[in-house]
Amino acid sequence: MIPLGSCTMKLNATSEMIPVTWEEFGKIHPFAPPSQTRGYQILFQQLEAWLAEITGFAGVSLQPNAGSQGEYAGLLVIRQYHESRGESHRNVCLIPTSAHGTNPASAVMCGMKVVAVACDTEGNIDIDDLKAKAEKHSHELAALMVTYPSTHGVFEEGIEEICAVVHSHGGQVYMDGANMNAQVGICRPGDIGADVCHLNLHKTFCIPHGGGGPGMGPIGVAAHLIPFLPGHPLIGSREWGVGSGEKKIPDSQHLGAVAAAPWGSASILVISWMYIAMMGAAGLTEATKVAILNANYIAKRLEAYYPVLYKGKNGLVAHECILDLRSLKKSANIEIDDVAKRLIDYGFHAPTVSWPVAGTIMVEPTESESKEELDRFCDALIAIRQEIAEIESGKADAEDNVLKNAPHTTESLITGEWTHPYSREQAAYPAPWTREHKFWPAVGRIDAAFGDRNFVCSCLPMDAYSA
Ligand SMILES: *Cc1c(COP(=O)(O)O)cnc(C)c1O
Repeated sequence: MIPLGSCTMKLNATSEMIPVTWEEFGKIHPFAPPSQTRGYQILFQQLEAWLAEITGFAGVSLQPNAGSQGEYAGLLVIRQYHESRGESHRNVCLIPTSAHGTNPASAVMCGMKVVAVACDTEGNIDIDDLKAKAEKHSHELAALMVTYPSTHGVFEEGIEEICAVVHSHGGQVYMDGANMNAQVGICRPGDIGADVCHLNLHKTFCIPHGGGGPGMGPIGVAAHLIPFLPGHPLIGSREWGVGSGEKKIPDSQHLGAVAAAPWGSASILVISWMYIAMMGAAGLTEATKVAILNANYIAKRLEAYYPVLYKGKNGLVAHECILDLRSLKKSANIEIDDVAKRLIDYGFHAPTVSWPVAGTIMVEPTESESKEELDRFCDALIAIRQEIAEIESGKADAEDNVLKNAPHTTESLITGEWTHPYSREQAAYPAPWTREHKFWPAVGRIDAAFGDRNFVCSCLPMDAYSA
């Protein structure tokens, strides 16, 4: 299990990925003339239609290469729309403080002015603050960027009202669809009141993205925004997006290209196509339900050990949950890093830490994990809580303990004298499953802040290249 929150990390099935290796997809140049890419055209049209149905939108552009690029493209679409109505002065973008950092960055890149909207203690958008800011900037309001479910892992109950407030002041609603894994088959951004939404195909739709690999961030738009979708010089006057029908769009209103290639990183679209085709409507809906169930299962099993920071009114979370570790700093001088690194000793990838709230960890199990794996993960975190309790009670040393020294490499366990007050077994085999299948970390702890701030130059001499 890779318990990252926010950046959905789900199963990337082999069958989804095999077509990437077919030369009919993998060896076609992005600028090949459309007459040579007939199969691709069918795939684009089908995928656009499916994504339009999933999001409840009338048009889709497959051009943006990442969620952040989708944000940029979507905000440009909104800008063009205002301009077409003679309202090019609309340049204020409302963004809740819980938003992903790419939201304000994209708004600024589009020449917009960011106005922050507060969140209440439950993590929801403070609707009174939203109303006040929308009122204050009514004349210049261009857009609201809102993530649903929120980055706090909660289905915001006021979402429809939020969209209505923005519309009533002439603004457009940009929905950040990175959390679409909690919506597919159950509800749709277009029905909720959004005008534009990006999808992270490398999150919800199974394109692998570990280590910053290629992504795709198509946008869906409501009918009135179709004329403003990105164009591309190589495609000429092609009508963009599903349902654009007969409408002829003056070239001056078209956006230019937002990516180098007309359909972005087209070759990896086959992964999402395969996922949707194989899951079908019922399968996709079931996946969403299981993803939400899994997150709530983890939240419930762990809440007695680590408080769950935000929940909805009914006591439930959406597709991810934030575990609050801040009190452990006081009680045992334990930081989130210590827990994240100790999880490696238990055989788990470290979770998302300190995002969107400092001192917390965020876990999004997705539908891909079995109950057995979810339990193993919970068991690990519960066992770590017990290790922390031993520090709190003074049974374990405050400085020299299994958490502060984690992760334990083979080298640290085998070579030299063992001087720690705990045993090698406790260090390396903290849970029964680690004896059957042990992940050995290659490196131990480094001072993360020091490493981030002190770059080491590895400039090789020229003779290293001559060899
Ligand atoms: C991942 C994410 C983004 C950015 O998407 P990229 O594809 O990484 O550019 C934006 N908003 C939220 C909420 C995200 O989780």
